[in-house]
Amino acid sequence: MVPWKYCQKHVGRTSFLGARYRVPHGARRHWGWQDRMGRTGRIILVLGAGVGGLVAANELRKRLPRMHRILLVEREADFVFAPSLLWVMTGDRTIRTVSRPIARLERKGIEVIRGQVESIDSERRAVVAAGRRLTPDYLIIALGADLAPEGVPGLKEAGHDFYAPAGADSFREAFASFAGGKLVLLTASPAYKCPGAPYEAAMLLEAACRKRGIRAQAEISLYAAEAGPMGVAGPDVSRRVRQMVESKGVRYYPEHQVTEVLKDPRRIRFASGGDASYDLLAYVPPLAAPRVVRDAGLLGESGWVPVDRNTLQTKYPGVFALGDVTGIPLAMGKPLPKAGVFAHKEAEVVARNVAREITGRGARASYDGWGECFIETGDGRGGFGRGDFYAEPTPRVSIERPSWRWHAAKVLFEKYWLRRWF
Ligand SMILES: Cc1cc2nc3c(=O)[nH]c(=O)nc-3n(C[C@H](O)[C@H](O)[C@H](O)COP(=O)(O)OP(=O)(O)OC[C@H]3O[C@@H](n4cnc5c(N)ncnc54)[C@H](O)[C@@H]3O)c2cc1C
Repeated sequence: MVPWKYCQKHVGRTSFLGARYRVPHGARRHWGWQDRMGRTGRIILVLGAGVGGLVAANELRKRLPRMHRILLVEREADFVFAPSLLWVMTGDRTIRTVSRPIARLERKGIEVIRGQVESIDSERRAVVAAGRRLTPDYLIIALGADLAPEGVPGLKEAGHDFYAPAGADSFREAFASFAGGKLVLLTASPAYKCPGAPYEAAMLLEAACRKRGIRAQAEISLYAAEAGPMGVAGPDVSRRVRQMVESKGVRYYPEHQVTEVLKDPRRIRFASGGDASYDLLAYVPPLAAPRVVRDAGLLGESGWVPVDRNTLQTKYPGVFALGDVTGIPLAMGKPLPKAGVFAHKEAEVVARNVAREITGRGARASYDGWGECFIETGDGRGGFGRGDFYAEPTPRVSIERPSWRWHAAKVLFEKYWLRRWF
């Protein structure tokens, strides 16, 4: 239930509701809005304004009349387009140019609540966020995955977490004054979001070193916890990405699980007993499900939220989870990778089905496991992978050869994303 006080506050504040809708009436099951015809509106609460949350909120707003309220809770003021963090590292973008204020969504009629999601009660469909208790008709959990560098002793202090805006930015600064030495990229656990990103980072930094005339002085290495690049996409894609990276003179060391990083002397220790030195370190941290989701008892054996892989419905009626926070097992025994493309497509499916349930209009949607991604290779070129990740017994994924076209497509995609959803 949305408390009366909360609704009253919004009557005065949200002009998009205007005078057309009367205040909620407590006698009904839903404390929603009522129009002149006496119809009661529904409340849809979206947790997290990352890729999945933004798409879900926008698509719902597009599909639902204004009598239905869409609330979006987010702790950050700005959305940062994560694929562009790789260009921040090389100095080709700044955090400001790849960010947008989430409050802009208010203009579209999405009510943005800035603050922490503090607790989730899935059975009662009740959420405490920013100190308010909210009881929506539909709950969409899109809280992503938390970055957890503290899981590896010394990692946070020694290197730059380029999966976080602040880390990509601090790396950019350090890289600008890097004149040569050992530049090391590290994946601190075998499962992380966007499986292509560290490989793209290695190739982009190699090209940036050449551009700056310091390539001969720079030794670039990638130590990976996983057995090979983009394993879920299959052995052919994995081999080709490895070839792309190694053909640039990047030293690649798979199956190197870091256990500790020292700052002085600068050394990385591995589970195998070996170690490596570095002058400049950029890393992908381990991931963990957000604490609030863990505390809610929503996690399955995988450590992530189990959902129906086609509808993204959790075991609780009216409660959906999508994107990085979910664990979707594939027939091959590994989970669906965590990537924006999946969060985006899943969010469209959830929004369509929720809107259909409310309005009775439109066809039922089902997520089919299709995914695609750009793979930046440096020098204004990029590759493109795409395929059916739900295919059995293994995903069917193919990869296009690097060309300037795919790089241009990624630049356009960035522009589209930062414009379309704000
Ligand atoms: C460097 C990098 C490059 C990438 N490149 C690509 C790419 O090329 N292609 C691709 O498909 N994917 C890429 N990704 C992955 C992609 O960004 C994620 O998979 C995607 O953002 C997941 O979407 P999501 O909505 O599940 O989670 P997120 O986008 O992470 O959103 C979760 C949101 O929830 C908020 N939140 C979390 N907890 C709370 C709380 N308690 N209270 C309030 N708010 C909270 C967070 O602040 C965040 O805004 C990349 C990621 C990185 C880091």
